[in-house]
Amino acid sequence: MKRPEPQRGVLEIEPYVGGRARADGAGPIYKLSANETPLGPSKAAIEAFKDAASSLSLYPDGGAAELREAIAERYGLNPNRIVCGAGSDELLHLLAQCYLGEGDESIVTEHGFLVYPIVTSAAGAKAVVAKEVGYRTDVDAILSAVTEKTRVVFLANPNNPTGTYIPAEEVRRLQQGLRPDILLILDAAYSEYVSKNDYEAGIELVATCENVVMTRTFSKIYGLAGLRLGWMYAPQHIVDVVNRVRGPFNVSIPAMKAGVAAIRDLNHLKLSREHNDKWLAWLTGEISNLGLEVTPSVANFLIIHFPNEKGKTAKDADAFLMKRGLILRAVTSYGLPDCLRLTVGTEEANRLVVAALAEFMNGKAVTS
Ligand SMILES: *Cc1c(COP(=O)(O)O)cnc(C)c1O
Repeated sequence: MKRPEPQRGVLEIEPYVGGRARADGAGPIYKLSANETPLGPSKAAIEAFKDAASSLSLYPDGGAAELREAIAERYGLNPNRIVCGAGSDELLHLLAQCYLGEGDESIVTEHGFLVYPIVTSAAGAKAVVAKEVGYRTDVDAILSAVTEKTRVVFLANPNNPTGTYIPAEEVRRLQQGLRPDILLILDAAYSEYVSKNDYEAGIELVATCENVVMTRTFSKIYGLAGLRLGWMYAPQHIVDVVNRVRGPFNVSIPAMKAGVAAIRDLNHLKLSREHNDKWLAWLTGEISNLGLEVTPSVANFLIIHFPNEKGKTAKDADAFLMKRGLILRAVTSYGLPDCLRLTVGTEEANRLVVAALAEFMNGKAVTS
């Protein structure tokens, strides 16, 4: 029987599985599996979202001018070089659709964000994996993975799920080592959390190169993951291409209004950063003290490495924590079967995780 068949590559995609939101236990649940902020969004953003309820019968401004101007003002950018999307995921899909096709290759990093191979396959192209060194992007490995078929390089900086980053100088070296016809996509979803002097999200590079795009999101530090809002900063020729392909009304009025309010609330941003700085350091120290290896992170999450030892594995820990309502993220699909990823939570959640891990490591628990 003949039936409609999808484009080549589509059925090879492993569907993306997000962080779980449920646990078996009866008690309270702490979702620490999706890198959401424990502080929620800015109050001003919630108010703006509610106010937008009165205009739901209207189409949004397809150019998202008000939001692009607010973003541009905040970062000193040219608003004409910004494109907004329904989450940065949409922009990653659009970029892949526009710049990858059958026979082409993208390059992704060993433990890179799983959306990149998905959007690559969806565009009919093939993702080539560049090894990391010590759970960190290796620019030389990326450069050696380049072939004449390479059209796009995806780099999350900092990366999810490893939480590591490479300095601006290394990103620049990567750009300089790529052919000018290869698009470098810098995914800076967690850049607002990074407080390292040698880090740059990519604004400088986009401003000075014709082959670099930076993507950003309102889902992480701004706490608007449920609204679906992201943006990219790109050279004019790429903005022109993406604007031809994207849905004309891809960002809703409530999302735009909330986004404008969120990006102007610098105090909420400051509080969110301070909370993260404090508890990221605390979690790293406390969990290391339990004898577990923690990869140093600059984002709002970290990976914990568990021993490959019966009763002490990542899988055992996951089940143990789950029973206590603590939901972490298994990262086997990221090539990290011995790790769990933990999102920095509220003080209460963070303390509960450390206490539960201490109990787990002391071996009092029999889990499986
Ligand atoms: C969470 C995340 C995003 C954001 O996706 P949205 O579609 O904007 O919610 C992008 N890139 C990485 C690496 C992420 O972890």
